[in-house]
Amino acid sequence: METIQYNLPQTRIPQAWYNIAADLPKPMAPPLHPGTLQPIGPDDLAPLFPMALILQEISQEREIEIPGPVRQVYAQWRPAPLFRARRLEQALDTPARIYYKYEGVSPAGSHKPNTAVPQAYYNKMAGTKRLSTETGAGQWGSSLAMACAFFGLECKVFMVRVSYDQKPYRRAMMETFGASVTASPSIETESGRAILSQHPDSNGSLGIAISEAVEVAAKDPDTKYALGSVLNHVLLHQTVIGLETIEQMALADDEPDVILGCTGGGSNFAGLVMPYLGRNLKGLSHARVIAVEPSACPSLTKGRFTYDFGDTGHLTPLVKMHTLGSTFMPPGIHAGGLRYHGMAPLVSHVMDLGLIEATSVQQLDAFAAGIQFARAEGIIPAPESNHAIAGAIREALVAKQEGKQKTILFGLSGHGHFDMQSYIAYQAGQLENYDYPEEEVAMALAGLPSLG
Ligand SMILES: *Cc1c(COP(=O)(O)O)cnc(C)c1O
Repeated sequence: METIQYNLPQTRIPQAWYNIAADLPKPMAPPLHPGTLQPIGPDDLAPLFPMALILQEISQEREIEIPGPVRQVYAQWRPAPLFRARRLEQALDTPARIYYKYEGVSPAGSHKPNTAVPQAYYNKMAGTKRLSTETGAGQWGSSLAMACAFFGLECKVFMVRVSYDQKPYRRAMMETFGASVTASPSIETESGRAILSQHPDSNGSLGIAISEAVEVAAKDPDTKYALGSVLNHVLLHQTVIGLETIEQMALADDEPDVILGCTGGGSNFAGLVMPYLGRNLKGLSHARVIAVEPSACPSLTKGRFTYDFGDTGHLTPLVKMHTLGSTFMPPGIHAGGLRYHGMAPLVSHVMDLGLIEATSVQQLDAFAAGIQFARAEGIIPAPESNHAIAGAIREALVAKQEGKQKTILFGLSGHGHFDMQSYIAYQAGQLENYDYPEEEVAMALAGLPSLG
């Protein structure tokens, strides 16, 4: 069977990112200062981010031009391929047509360089010398390290201790790109030392690593902070995914009836679906849009839509989002990029408006889907991406049951070449499902900040 890839010439990389804020029927709730509970202004964020990114964070412009030097870097792997999953369709014996947009072709292996590159670029333009950030499994850290190398910035990465010890290859990748990688908690920051004095053997967490990275940026005027998901400007940069896909689906002479993506902080999902939601809002399309999250960390399907902190250490502004509580420690599923207590405020907002749906998938079902996909399509997906695949397969099997044609599109956010340990564990029968941790979530939600 012939492989079908819908190719666009490189000149068709979008000229501008798409900002759905311009088309929303109702504006988003503003972020609040945790002390005054008043909406924060651009100046409150200035110690952490360059003004160009802060202005994108609050922009109402529909189109924001992609700078030439950023498009030049994008051109190394963009437009990313859109494939028709013909062999997967055959394996499922479904009448549905299945397409996937593959972001694993970037040098770092995921969608994350789509925002790492412009973040490094705008910082360089603003005179920043160094970027600090956190990373869990290392996907974000390696993307930012690469982007910093391209634009001549230093890069400081706080890597969650347990990953630092267990995932040496991602660390080696960051160091190869010239980044300096520190296991978190570390003795280099007050927040790190505070944790270590209490728990000298701490495994670390994303929440602690964020506190360390933010502290370093707040204390040094030459250092800014970079985040790999959740924020509006990050989701904006990712819209190159959906903008390209709309053109590629036109080349395929097809139109998706249902669009799916996995959601951790929400950035790859938003990147694919926001341009489609914009078309839905204008009545140009009617696609159902579905976020797929892990059952063990189900912020959209089980969380509360309310103001909460973005980090465990409570250094960030309060944002309105679907949250399981900022002190919630998600179970140790292997999709590290989906272990976040909250959701991007923009994704939460379109969920609240009823523009998208959400569903959840258990860890073992996600891996089973990923392996079925790998055997059919030859790409070994990241454990995070397996959730989107499981959601797409579910839809394809419903189409089969109903005997109905349906066009399914999903985002394949990255490859799993650095995650083979999790596939080894799955094949050895060592992975387990986690029930929704109801009591821990209830406890974490009891600690929500009071706005009264
Ligand atoms: C980081 C990551 C995710 C989760 O982050 P989002 O912001 O929700 O996209 C998903 N897939 C891959 C491959 C990742 O690296």
